[in-house]
Amino acid sequence: MIVMKFGGTSTQDAAAMTNVARIVGERLASRPVVVISAIAGATNALEKIGALASQQKRNEADQVIRELLGRHETIVDTLIRNDVRRGELHAHLKDAARELGDLVHGVSILRELTPRTLDAFYAFGELLSSRLVAAVMQEQGLDAQWLDTADFMVTDEQHNRALPIMELVETRLRGITAPLVSDGKVAVTQGYIGITQSGRRTTMGRESSDYSAAVIGAALGADDIQIWTDVDGILSADPRVVASPLKVTELTFDEAYELSYFGAKVLHPNTMLPAIEKNIPIHIYNSRHPERSGTKVVAGRPDQEAIIKSIAYKHDAVLLTARPAKRYNQFVFWEHLFNILTKFGAAPGMIVTSEFSIGVVLDARKDMSSIVQELHVLGTIDLLEKKALLSVVGSNIKKCPEVVTRLMKAVGAIAVHAVSFGASRSNVSILIDDDEVEDAVRRVHEEFFGSRVQPGMFESAPLSAGSLAR
Ligand code: ADP
Ligand code: MG
Repeated sequence: MIVMKFGGTSTQDAAAMTNVARIVGERLASRPVVVISAIAGATNALEKIGALASQQKRNEADQVIRELLGRHETIVDTLIRNDVRRGELHAHLKDAARELGDLVHGVSILRELTPRTLDAFYAFGELLSSRLVAAVMQEQGLDAQWLDTADFMVTDEQHNRALPIMELVETRLRGITAPLVSDGKVAVTQGYIGITQSGRRTTMGRESSDYSAAVIGAALGADDIQIWTDVDGILSADPRVVASPLKVTELTFDEAYELSYFGAKVLHPNTMLPAIEKNIPIHIYNSRHPERSGTKVVAGRPDQEAIIKSIAYKHDAVLLTARPAKRYNQFVFWEHLFNILTKFGAAPGMIVTSEFSIGVVLDARKDMSSIVQELHVLGTIDLLEKKALLSVVGSNIKKCPEVVTRLMKAVGAIAVHAVSFGASRSNVSILIDDDEVEDAVRRVHEEFFGSRVQPGMFESAPLSAGSLAR
């Protein structure tokens, strides 16, 4: 059994959906369970509808609803010939229009968009796209069965960033899918969304459909978790920044985790966690070129040599430096500092310390003024804003201090505000000015991938135009 997850660009229109049905149809022997994201742009549109409603701009909200549902209608009318099926889908779209309208009405009266209500909006994206994909598959003769995540993807109550309760997901999902799979049916369900035990829709964080696929794969003991997207696999850098990155043929779970944690959008970082637990490989494939070999992510082998695999970057970083007031001893100070960061859900992407001060790199989108306000009681707080993290990820980097030298040489005159090396085997990170990060990524990529690369690890990646255009 395999899990196949298709992202928003793989389902964005009628042609893309037809393509998904074909790719799945060619892999029936592996008994696929299919996980679908919202069509490209839908999640943002739903967020906008909620925001407009909370500002009491109901007409504008209605307009966005019509546009969004219109895109789905076009797909139905283009692809669905069977009258019964087409009628059902139109009825679903009508229901969605009514339910979204009701939500907008409620939010505009209360003038407040809570995380729970936002999740109610978000859920429409995946519910609709997955129904369409299931219908398109049926239209092409596949025995597809639509599954609602409400029946199995049980999560905690942290709206917008819920986490699945694995034991419950596993029992429920196994109960539902076992008879389907043994009947040769293809289950089609939603990424990103879950349900609380009291029956409220949740979501698991933006871009988390990859994680959904891994959770489903782990729950079902899948042989493979396949992430189908719009690039050939994990590349040696973001193709929107570096003109022709190489494709990495294989990474370890740790490397893929660090790469996504440090900003590579191609996989959601959480994806690796269920896969590691059950030791299930993850493959990343290009839905526009399904014949290409993709990238394999598997458990690590103790590599002998140091290999640089990819360069990641992350905007919106802030370096917060704290110096304790004299009355604190250092241990108490650190404990307080981390307690406050934990309270605000602010996990440092990098930590640097000197004898009497500590610097933590935080996501600027966190509530920095509240964090700083609370920290002020501890001592002096400085903020360096508009920074970015650049990370070099690979195998055994820790063993190879030369990487740091080459990294510094490559960034040249670009100011480096902090460095982290050695805490993990697989990365070295530097903090630089935000407006220089793209340039720095290109220079560092040139340094490590420009001429001499390790044979066997990489393939050059012919990029589809779409990935560069976005
Ligand atoms: P999906 O909608 O399929 O989930 P995403 O947009 O989330 O697709 O992820 C794929 C995109 O990630 C690519 O189009 C590419 O622009 C971007 N990306 C950033 N860094 C990398 C990288 N190192 N390797 C591959 N893709 C990357
Ligand atoms: Mg994604």
